[in-house]
Amino acid sequence: MPYVVTENCIKCKYMDCVEVCPVDCFYEGENMLVIHPDECIDCGVCEPECPAEAIKPDTQPGLESWLELNAQYSKTWPNISEKGEAPADGKEWDGKPGKLELFSAEPGEGS
Ligand code: SF4
Ligand code: SF4
Repeated sequence: MPYVVTENCIKCKYMDCVEVCPVDCFYEGENMLVIHPDECIDCGVCEPECPAEAIKPDTQPGLESWLELNAQYSKTWPNISEKGEAPADGKEWDGKPGKLELFSAEPGEGS
């Protein structure tokens, strides 16, 4: 029962979450992060840290496709455990609908 990063992370990517994860299971894409479902120990510490409220427990209904996306990209994107520079326009994207269309499969830099 891992936690999952969902749509509102796209283009917000504040990265407050990565600093608190005790097992460093966040992975960085170009415009969002994902959680490795097999590494997450389900501690829940990251959930309230996300200003975009993008992190959810996978027990919440309707998150199957996001769990798949987290599982898929955490295999290839680089690990991130230190907060980087958030996008300058991140706040403007917070809460906007339809951000899945803007998802980038490209990896981020990691840290
Ligand atoms: S804090 Fe939230 S919006 Fe920021 S990178 Fe983590 S999951 Fe994404
Ligand atoms: S629930 Fe805990 S282990 Fe899982 S990603 Fe969040 S901080 Fe890391």
